[in-house]
Amino acid sequence: MRTRWADESYQGIVRTGFRMKRRLFKGKSPFQTVEVVETSGHGRLLLIDGMTMVSERDEFVYHEMIAHVPLFTHPRPRRVLVIGGGDGGSVREVLRHKGVERCVLAEIDPLVVAASRKYIPKTAAALSDRRCEIRIGDGVRFVRETAERFDAVIVDSTEPFGPAKELFGPAFYKDVRRVLTRDGVVVSQAGSPFYEIGTIKNLMRILKPVFPVVEPYLFTNMTYPGGLWSFLYSSKGPRPSRDFKPARVRAARLPLRWYNARMHEAAFALPEFLRKAVGR
Ligand code: SAM
Repeated sequence: MRTRWADESYQGIVRTGFRMKRRLFKGKSPFQTVEVVETSGHGRLLLIDGMTMVSERDEFVYHEMIAHVPLFTHPRPRRVLVIGGGDGGSVREVLRHKGVERCVLAEIDPLVVAASRKYIPKTAAALSDRRCEIRIGDGVRFVRETAERFDAVIVDSTEPFGPAKELFGPAFYKDVRRVLTRDGVVVSQAGSPFYEIGTIKNLMRILKPVFPVVEPYLFTNMTYPGGLWSFLYSSKGPRPSRDFKPARVRAARLPLRWYNARMHEAAFALPEFLRKAVGR
């Protein structure tokens, strides 16, 4: 039988392929094409417009690093907003924090939530947690119009085009600042330091006039092209090294598989090419 591959072509210069057993779902929403495939070596994959979003085998890395770095830096996170993140992985990690009372998920595409709930339930399970409220709609509009205030905002979006384009713009981050509480922290998905250093630099240029603290941090995974990926941590005050207390992580005793206090600290060590490019 012919071997089939779930192929992702990235920037037209690199391809990653996951040996595919079968396609479980393919659907088109007004925003994008959503697929879920069963693979031989990486569990189930969620793809959007042909780009791998989540692989069951390594999604814990991305979701632990996007959630626990800000939530263990903020002194006492209780209300969290996740923008994008319709697969539910970021919400699952946020709600591991017993002190979090409310997590709002602002996801533009209900098809992503439905497909994730049905086909990658281990990732999406926390979407049914009573502390989670799913608001289907544009995250840009949500932060512009909400009267709520949040201790942390997690921007778990797709790449800066299509519906996600404005999530990488100055107006959005001015609104994010408005909805953050006094010690508010925000983390943004910032792409590959190898292939998208421009995205990282542009996003830092947008964040710096809005937040006094802006720090890139890195993680590695099996799924994304180049294997090295970045987030941008920004805040109104708390610093991810000075204000981070490793004892809090140990005391929380969360069932984690990647994040720990040393990985938190190590994530902010930048390789020389990136350090120079972002002027650290
Ligand atoms: N971990 C993935 C990555 O690194 O690319 C992202 C995961 S999540 C599936 C990305 C989500 O962002 C998608 O479900 C997409 O529908 C959502 N999204 C894109 N633009 C959005 C917007 N303006 N408002 C809310 N959600 C948006």
